[in-house]
Amino acid sequence: MGDEGLKGFKVFDTTLRDGEQTPGVSLSVEQKILIAEALDKLNVDVIEAGSAITSKGEQEAIKEIAERGFKAEICSFARILQSDINVAMNCGVDSVFIVCPSSDIHISSKFKKSREEVLQQGIETVEYARDHGLTVEFGAEDASRADFDYVRRLFKAAEEAGASRVCYCDTVGVLTPEKTFEIFKTFDEELGIETSIHCHDDFGLATINSVFAIKGGAEQVHATINGIGERAGNASLEEIVMASEILYGYSTGINKQYLYNVSKLVSKLTGVLVAPNKAIVGDNAFTHESGIHTHAIMRDTTTYEPITPEIVGRKRRLVLGKHAGRASVEAILKELGYRATPDQMKDILSRIKEIGDKGKRLTDADVQAIAETVLEIKKERRVELIDLNVVSGKNLMPTASVKLKIDGKEVIEAGVGLGPVDAAINAIKKGIKNIADVTLEEYHVDSITGGTDALVEVVVKLSKGDKLITSRGARTDIIMASVEAVVEGINRLIG
Ligand code: MN
Repeated sequence: MGDEGLKGFKVFDTTLRDGEQTPGVSLSVEQKILIAEALDKLNVDVIEAGSAITSKGEQEAIKEIAERGFKAEICSFARILQSDINVAMNCGVDSVFIVCPSSDIHISSKFKKSREEVLQQGIETVEYARDHGLTVEFGAEDASRADFDYVRRLFKAAEEAGASRVCYCDTVGVLTPEKTFEIFKTFDEELGIETSIHCHDDFGLATINSVFAIKGGAEQVHATINGIGERAGNASLEEIVMASEILYGYSTGINKQYLYNVSKLVSKLTGVLVAPNKAIVGDNAFTHESGIHTHAIMRDTTTYEPITPEIVGRKRRLVLGKHAGRASVEAILKELGYRATPDQMKDILSRIKEIGDKGKRLTDADVQAIAETVLEIKKERRVELIDLNVVSGKNLMPTASVKLKIDGKEVIEAGVGLGPVDAAINAIKKGIKNIADVTLEEYHVDSITGGTDALVEVVVKLSKGDKLITSRGARTDIIMASVEAVVEGINRLIG
């Protein structure tokens, strides 16, 4: 813990504006509203819902978000143009983030005007927005490559023109923690209004630069969920919140227990995957495989975890692979309700390591199957696939019919879906609905060999209540591989 006490700071979320500027990302109105709802539940202070001038769809989304009555301040991005302010105002936002170029590179390439003219136009825009009842955050774009005296003049003028906050933008991510600290110390002495920082992660320093801005006296940070954003992305909200609270002793109003869920939602809707080793929200952030680590973790979780996963709404996960040790296998067998003699244990462990050595991901179903083989446990499969028919094509809603044998009785069901795999899985889910409510949490597909005749491997993660299981299917037919994985998983979940 730091010795700074529990100083608080505000979180300005720009997932829906700078985050949406991630290459390849474009969100629908409905998707933007879903993310805004999640951000409000997370309790961010400001939601930058978009840049109103961008498009009609963007205006519709911002308007809808502004009308929801969220706790958070709803903001739109704007350039130093009255027309941008007018469009934002028509969307019913509380505030505008007015961004003014501040480096000579930006001023000359974008404006073909002098510094004085830009300052004048910036200040007139601030006054215009203020006069129309908007809260104003005034941002200096590319401030980290600008003449510092010019940035100070811009901020002083913005303060005098009635802005509520000023934001120092490290637009191309070239700040360092030491520099950031000094800059905000200066602002703290010279300015009477709230200061804010906007960092990018081009050198992997966005989180620490944001924290050092707070240390220097900043009242607010800009951040995005999962650190999405242009190029290497923006400062990551979950990292700033957790690092500042846990390591530096600051406080935010963020409801940390929702961090993981919001991360998953944003990843799903934007299609931007989170790296498995990403801090706080990556798949492996609370996963342990190595035998030595899992053994210690089971005795005392603090041995290899800086915080408990529950704080950010997650669960610890132990996985088996070639690094597995006896303790982790024992723990998993115990969970399954199995007992093994020392010899059987050795056998199970060596079979597990064998799969791991082949470079394969070991699923829960694999572990169960190995244990049951070694322990000679015969388990009836409660669900058996007898027949599957899938029809799909151009101008045709993909439709599947299945015949299942469930506890010895035949069940026939049909389902439709967005694609043939979706239709087949929906049909199966309908078929088993009387015995279990199973949810497909994740679906991964890999082709193991080359061409269109490749062997396809599907790994699914299924849940029933809070029980979670992974299972695999491998076929040349992607639909059959998917169905095999799901049926295998269902049998393991309900077995
Ligand atoms: Mn930016």
